[in-house]
Amino acid sequence: MEKKNLKPESLMMSYGYKPSLSEGAIKCPIFQTSTFVFKSAEEGKAFFEVAYGLREKGATEELGLIYSRINNPDLEILENRLSLWDGAEDCAVFESGMAAITTVLLEFLYPGDLLLYSCPLYGGTDHFIKKVLVKYGIESVEFYAGESKETIINRIQATGKPDKLAFIYVETPANPTNALIDFELCREIADEFSTTEKKCYIAVDNTYLGPLYQHPLIHGVDIVLYSATKYIGGHSDVIAGAALGSAALILRVRVLRTFLGNMAGPWTGWLLLRSLETLKVRMEQQMNNAQKVAEFLVRHPKVEKVYYLGLLKENDPQYAIYKKQCLSPGAMISFDVKGGENEAFTFLNNLKLIKLAVSLGSTESLAEHPATMTHIDVAPEEKKLLSITEKLVRLSVGVENADDLIWDIGQALEKL
Ligand SMILES: *Cc1c(COP(=O)(O)O)cnc(C)c1O
Repeated sequence: MEKKNLKPESLMMSYGYKPSLSEGAIKCPIFQTSTFVFKSAEEGKAFFEVAYGLREKGATEELGLIYSRINNPDLEILENRLSLWDGAEDCAVFESGMAAITTVLLEFLYPGDLLLYSCPLYGGTDHFIKKVLVKYGIESVEFYAGESKETIINRIQATGKPDKLAFIYVETPANPTNALIDFELCREIADEFSTTEKKCYIAVDNTYLGPLYQHPLIHGVDIVLYSATKYIGGHSDVIAGAALGSAALILRVRVLRTFLGNMAGPWTGWLLLRSLETLKVRMEQQMNNAQKVAEFLVRHPKVEKVYYLGLLKENDPQYAIYKKQCLSPGAMISFDVKGGENEAFTFLNNLKLIKLAVSLGSTESLAEHPATMTHIDVAPEEKKLLSITEKLVRLSVGVENADDLIWDIGQALEKL
């Protein structure tokens, strides 16, 4: 019986690894080595020719192992497996999500270019765009969920350099309110500003829903980025990142990675290989728990408003985007308690099972206060615009028993 197109979850334990190359070990060992021994000088020469792009790889030729800043089995197997979820041609993994994001921005933007980005962005990304890219003469202009194409295009025109638009950077669902950006709209804008000599690329930070519940590449996005620290790693014990896309674009990213030297190490690669085996069961349990928690919150008298994709109403313009590009509501919930900072803090300080910490996507549930923690750096007017108020609490729902989570949230809300 032949079965093609095995699902990613069936392949996460074996894909890309040959036990016969590692003494029959069923698991890929940690290749904790800096360099690799060539069988002959001729082989070393052949490996370098391919690695440095001096000739095309032969049809059956695999890029030989040279040096762990260029390649390493734990990284290569991880990259092959990660590519399966998003249906990407290739992937490059990094020692952090920020390393993946900044390397991609540095590779595709040149001095004088204009960058369009969605608001709000992860704090580190926002800082890099506003404080670091400007040092290299790269300017940026923002847009918001729900804005029309005309509004966004007018804002690009108003910069005085619409011909310089080179890159669109998007985060959706946005942290912390789950606001959605339409990929199709981004593609239309990118195409409008692309010329035959200069293509405007789109990258999306898919950390919040991916790699299970949103596949941006099939919606016209060029590069998908992850903080693998979150759902992919999933155990709050590793920092890592990834960039995925076409072979041609990821080759450019990988070459810059080689020279910045910010690739993930073998130990990080091995930890993520282990995490990927349970990615689907973890994310499904987290999503199922989150749906129950959201239903509980929305009916609770001490809760004013709940931001969760599973609660979007059909008459909400966001609902159409959700149906088009998201496969599940995921496990990130934000909500307004009745009151302000005092009430939000009382809730956070009284949680017993759920931990008070930033980060997200891990097996354990986490709670935090965006206005004074993850989003403290957002300007006051912008906070208002984005509904990041004093009464807002963010939850990352874990794999615990749903009734236990609801009990914990309920008893902490009773203290308000
Ligand atoms: C955590 C996070 C990042 C940064 O990733 P690191 O792995 O911490 O470098 C980027 N984007 C989003 C949405 C994140 O949650």
